[in-house]
Amino acid sequence: MTNPILSDWTTPFEIAPFDTIADSDFSPALDTALEAHNAQIDAIADNPDAPTFANTVEALEAAGEQLDKVLSVFFTVAGADSNPTREELQRDFSPKLAAHFSGISSNKALFQRLADLWARKDDLGLTDEQARVLMLTHRGFVRAGAALTGDADTRMQAIKARLASLGTSFTQNLLADEREWFMPLSEDDLEGLPDFVVDAARAAGQEKGADGPVVTLSRSIIVPFLQFSPRRDLREVAYKAWTARGANGGETDNREIAAEILSLREERAKLLGYDNFAAYKLETEMARTPDKVRDLLMQVWEPAKARADVDAEILTQMMQVDGVNGPLAAWDWRYYAEKRRKAEHDLDEAALKPYLQLDRMIEAAFACANRLFGLEFAPLDVPLYHPDCRAWEVTRNSQHVAVFIGDYFARGSKRSGAWCSAMRSQAKFPKAQAPVVINVCNFAKGDPALLSYDDARTLFHEFGHALHQMLSDVTYESISGTSVARDFVELPSQLYEHWLEVPEVLAEFATHADTGAPMPQDMLDKVLKAANFDQGFQTVEYVASALVDLEFHDGAAPADPMATQAQVLEGLGMLPAIGMRHATPHFAHVFAGDGYSSGYYSYMWSEVMDADAFAAFEEAGGAFDPDRAKALEENILSTGGSREAEELYLAFRGRLPGVEALLKGRGLIAA
Ligand SMILES: [Zn+2]
Repeated sequence: MTNPILSDWTTPFEIAPFDTIADSDFSPALDTALEAHNAQIDAIADNPDAPTFANTVEALEAAGEQLDKVLSVFFTVAGADSNPTREELQRDFSPKLAAHFSGISSNKALFQRLADLWARKDDLGLTDEQARVLMLTHRGFVRAGAALTGDADTRMQAIKARLASLGTSFTQNLLADEREWFMPLSEDDLEGLPDFVVDAARAAGQEKGADGPVVTLSRSIIVPFLQFSPRRDLREVAYKAWTARGANGGETDNREIAAEILSLREERAKLLGYDNFAAYKLETEMARTPDKVRDLLMQVWEPAKARADVDAEILTQMMQVDGVNGPLAAWDWRYYAEKRRKAEHDLDEAALKPYLQLDRMIEAAFACANRLFGLEFAPLDVPLYHPDCRAWEVTRNSQHVAVFIGDYFARGSKRSGAWCSAMRSQAKFPKAQAPVVINVCNFAKGDPALLSYDDARTLFHEFGHALHQMLSDVTYESISGTSVARDFVELPSQLYEHWLEVPEVLAEFATHADTGAPMPQDMLDKVLKAANFDQGFQTVEYVASALVDLEFHDGAAPADPMATQAQVLEGLGMLPAIGMRHATPHFAHVFAGDGYSSGYYSYMWSEVMDADAFAAFEEAGGAFDPDRAKALEENILSTGGSREAEELYLAFRGRLPGVEALLKGRGLIAA
């Protein structure tokens, strides 16, 4: 019998036939797919014919079709609907896949063919897109160390293996420290905490086998505890435990691991011919150089710090009114900021929620895509991996564009957070394939399901990523959709959030679940204002972390990262009442793997562009200006990674963005 994952999918639009796939199919399908991919790679590498774009680069693009199928189905269910079998499979698959891809990137015969093509690139008669794919493929191999020989090659392999194991240790130590610590609360200690925090503390107590409620270091408990608990002594204990993760001494201490990681990264960058790791890392990003990153962060830092200084004054006075003397501490900020938020923009969440029905917000996201890009959405009845999933066929002028799947509700089998992935990416080679795109969120179920304002923003955010996939119009899959620089990929998603805030959108779609009445104007005003609250604090804690990350990688690796961190913060004039969003011993973005190392700034880089890009619509006469929408699709949403991010932005906007729109958007300068 054929494995249903590997057989031809005869479903509508060739969506994975989830109802015929069993967990026992994954492992044999992966083994078969890896073997097939290896055979394809060997055939390309060992081809006796001289290398051509078609027999090497295009052959690589076309290879691995089975692997794509297995991985897209498996990672969809492993993330959104896991079970113990799938968890075990995931532990089994990760090292297998890492070894597989590292084997390809260190295949010397294959690299020789790419290097040969690269040397003759101008004589190959390539289209712009083909030249770009050749450049990216060749560069990927070079950056992985494929061009190294002899001792340098041996050393590179050793460094990579050591970095992988250090990254895993860093994560495990952090989890161990988070799991280990909890603080029991008496019934009296619960005073002042809202119901949802009390419920979470009780549930956490049960999970820890404690007698009653406890505070843990999970962000969903510790942050609201610091926000709402009037007990300054308990806040101090909890805050100190939270910020000591990874720095408690003993076996789970991450400080020496961080130092070794930084030193190995520097060595790796130098083996590849770069001055330092930041230069290596930023080469493929839109920012390009450490100086440009620093320049952006410092332009934001100054006004953010000025705002935070003013806020610190106000909060200190509130604390004095409470009879607490002495300076505002880091465990005080969230508590007094919450009191201030309540006083200044009292927004009744319970009254707001009925206006934000999930189904109406989905309609709103679709309606904006219709007005901007002419897309239409029709429900599609196909079996998916969970009864909560819904699917739509996306068309334009009656032509099929994509399948969009929404999996919106929280459940125990889903990991936390929200994400967008393509189960199939758009491409025209080796044959035309239309995208199948999924948005996964963690909203509470209900009848009807109601969202918080943050939830609604998340829905628009993930739908922005989905548009980037669905509107993609390139030839090769490796540069399709969201396959762009990390500091560019959040532009379409963060930009789309702006349409939720367009008054006419909320007026039409934020209607009361029972009465159907639109959201009252004063509630709408409060929602929009509250979204900007405490931005001094939030910007300062983020930018401080981003600058420390940059400093670690731009120059010689520090022998004592904690000392470097302290120096950077002192140089900035960091406020004592604000901690870094992530301090070194628990900065998983930077040390658990390579993804965000010297790249933590990326979120802000994208935000600079999304604020400026939305301003382009406003300047042109409105959020639905058709010419701006056309320019956005032509230059950014359809182009994937076919050109440099900077070129794409310039083509859309005619100039590069300044930070002004971001500072206005965060309320750090006057609008
Ligand atoms: Zn995103």
